[in-house]
Amino acid sequence: MDLKPIDAFCTKCRTKFTYLMKPKKSFLGFQKLYCPTCKSKVLYPLTKGFRITYQIFFVWMLIAIAFTFSQGFIGLPSWIAVLVMIALFKDRSMRKRLAKINNKQCFNIGTNLNKEKNN
Ligand SMILES: [Zn+2]
Repeated sequence: MDLKPIDAFCTKCRTKFTYLMKPKKSFLGFQKLYCPTCKSKVLYPLTKGFRITYQIFFVWMLIAIAFTFSQGFIGLPSWIAVLVMIALFKDRSMRKRLAKINNKQCFNIGTNLNKEKNN
């Protein structure tokens, strides 16, 4: 796995920082970063490998549930499946939030440029 610096944002003190070290992984595979300013832990979305693995697992689980249902049984997701669903859901909301932050910054840059043009 190659090491890419992560452009991170601390949700506590709102500092932007670039994380150059290899992040540690949380229980579900989220990336754990530490803010250089306030030292608080910042959770970052899953790496691509984790996300793809979870998504494949999720699809297989749906197929398995559909299969047991077609056999006349009610298939219930196992606790692993529940964890995978939680991980995917958390990952999604985290990425949405990050996209929002990034969009805001782009928007600010855009408005600054417009101001400069007007002057
Ligand atoms: Zn911080």
